[in-house]
Amino acid sequence: MSETTMTLDEIHKLAKETLMAHGCDAENAGAVADTITRAEGDGCHSHGLMRLPGYVATLKSGKVNGKARPSVKKLAPAVVQVNGHNCFAPMALNEGRAHLIDAAKTCGIAAMPLIGIHHFAALWAEVEPIADAGLIGFACTSYKPAVIPAGGTKALYGTNPICFGWPRPGKPSMVFDQASSVMARGEVMLAAREGHTLPEGVGVDADGNPTTDPDEVLKGALLAFGGYKGSSIAMMVELLAGGLIGESFSFEAAQRDNGDGGPPQGGEFMMAMDPNLFGDADGWADHADAFFDKMLEQDNVRLPGARRHKNRGETAKTGVAVSNIILDKISAL
Ligand code: NDP
Repeated sequence: MSETTMTLDEIHKLAKETLMAHGCDAENAGAVADTITRAEGDGCHSHGLMRLPGYVATLKSGKVNGKARPSVKKLAPAVVQVNGHNCFAPMALNEGRAHLIDAAKTCGIAAMPLIGIHHFAALWAEVEPIADAGLIGFACTSYKPAVIPAGGTKALYGTNPICFGWPRPGKPSMVFDQASSVMARGEVMLAAREGHTLPEGVGVDADGNPTTDPDEVLKGALLAFGGYKGSSIAMMVELLAGGLIGESFSFEAAQRDNGDGGPPQGGEFMMAMDPNLFGDADGWADHADAFFDKMLEQDNVRLPGARRHKNRGETAKTGVAVSNIILDKISAL
């Protein structure tokens, strides 16, 4: 596969300028470009530049407002609602983050429902700043139907990722971030683009037959990880990021989507907790670190996020090898 090496600054500039050329103002474009650049820098290519054509499609169709100004409203002392007014999620998160952190530090625990946003990104980039601010963070979001409920035959849930972050003062925060499908749809798209087959058990074709062909899975549906257990987690995400906060379930988001190929309008649920207000202010950090050390005593055990942090250290120096197929698609925009 032919590739071009780009610095992180070049990636950011390309993303920001492309978004601004299609109707974003500098602040909205910068928020999305930050997210794309962080994904490329951490080696999460399925949420990097590959997503730019999808972001642009929503600007061209008018579904997303690239000049939106999200608004923040306190629904309760510890519930901070952000209305994106049809912006991309990173812009709404930038607007709400400090309010969530502040509410969690005051109340011990706080939630941030985000409504009226378009989510097309990796969640770790959103939870890591919460953990880096010294708080435990959680986020989840739904999408459009892509995953079959356990026992069913038709996609109903989105790939519905959940992300959890744990602060480690003086060390990189521990953040895990996983789709509730066996594989994230972005990874299936990547396999389709690169001509790889998928492992058994990832998904089914449009007729419900198991297949390892990523193109057929994209026309069909994915399976939840761990059978009915992952299926229940995907259901929980639908309830938190949709039912609880007055936003759409994945199937409703799809019904009102214009099919432009970009992210539908939907919701996201975030939560933060201040570990200093849960009864072990002086001990929690060392106690948890001793637990991580215990885990890492075993061969082949690593902390979630360690791969990303290693990539981050390297790409800051070496840049990122970006597929020329993606760069061609971006220049064609
Ligand atoms: P992966 O299966 O690649 O990884 C899931 C998590 O497990 C990561 O935190 C990863 O850390 C960790 N991990 C992987 N291998 C190990 C290991 N051997 N030991 C310990 N931890 C490990 O992610 P998914 O494919 O499920 O999801 C990819 C991305 O897609 C996520 O960022 C998610 O937010 C995003 N997504 C976004 C959606 C949206 O609608 N916006 C929908 C669905 C997914 P590490 O990164 O260090 O490998």
